[in-house]
Amino acid sequence: MHNVIIIGSGCAGLTAAIYTARANLKPLVLDGHEPLSLTTHVENYPGFPDGIMGPELIENMRRQAARFGAEFKAGTVSEVDLTEHPFKVKAGSELYETRSLIVAAGASARLLGLRGEKELIGRGLSTCATCDGYFFRGKPIAVVGGGDSAMEEANFLSRYASRVYLIHRREEFRASKIMIDRARANEKVEFLVPYVVEEILSPEGLVNGVRLRHTKTGETREIAVDGVFVAIGHNPNSTAFKGKLEMDENGYLLARHGSITSVPGVFIAGDVQDHRYRQAVTAAGSGCMAALDAEKFLEEKKD
Ligand code: NAP
Repeated sequence: MHNVIIIGSGCAGLTAAIYTARANLKPLVLDGHEPLSLTTHVENYPGFPDGIMGPELIENMRRQAARFGAEFKAGTVSEVDLTEHPFKVKAGSELYETRSLIVAAGASARLLGLRGEKELIGRGLSTCATCDGYFFRGKPIAVVGGGDSAMEEANFLSRYASRVYLIHRREEFRASKIMIDRARANEKVEFLVPYVVEEILSPEGLVNGVRLRHTKTGETREIAVDGVFVAIGHNPNSTAFKGKLEMDENGYLLARHGSITSVPGVFIAGDVQDHRYRQAVTAAGSGCMAALDAEKFLEEKKD
């Protein structure tokens, strides 16, 4: 029987682990996948004036949590039973019981599904403008997508890039009018619609262009870019909680207040409940909130 199980080992989960471990709750962290590992250099996490590599930041947090007694186990959570206390969590072939649960399972950025795409992450391909925009100062880049994220990223990236091509597969946009208007008014942003990316060109292992196909005429064209930002949305890793925790229509978990959910003893943190900020530091902050809420819950339950 565990006091607290933390699902996810990104910034939110590990911060929750540091706090609950320091509170002597001996948390069990169920390791997810890809925490910040997709980001190469993190330059906006406070306290690191020279920046820090994403995997190193995560490793530091892990060590910090382990030092206070957090335990780590690998295993993707496939099923949870929140109807009874203690809760049951199934990960791999193991079944765990816990008095409280912190869900910090994150959200995965969608990729285009092109051959070799994953290998180009950190080599010109990115899913995070805030993280990587700075590396493309004075260079032409492409942003793929037609939602608010794509518009926002195109505008944000225009601060650095010499030119931003906004590539979207339809002539209509999912983004709100105000966001589209802003991007259209930006003279550095050029809209290329309706185009799909057929191939990301990287003859020497680094992005140097994209081949596009017009979805109506079939015409193909190549444009030279040093970076491609894929902004086609995220999928929150919340499938195991369908029908068990409140979520919005996109699967993002909803809190009643802070990290507190509709199920007493279950708390949420990080990107699985946040499609707006999605920063390492905000994830860490919400992980802290979830840990404090879990601690309080366990304390009250004991009383
Ligand atoms: P989104 O609204 O789901 O938009 C995703 C976009 O990517 C759509 O235009 C979609 O095209 C396109 N897309 C999806 N799969 C694709 C594929 N395989 N190939 C090419 N294009 C593909 O996602 P989002 O922009 O990340 O926004 C998510 C949520 O956060 C939304 O609710 C949004 O309003 C919100 N948000 C708000 C702000 C803000 O207000 N400041 C900023 C960012 C995000 P189709 O339209 O053709 O399907």
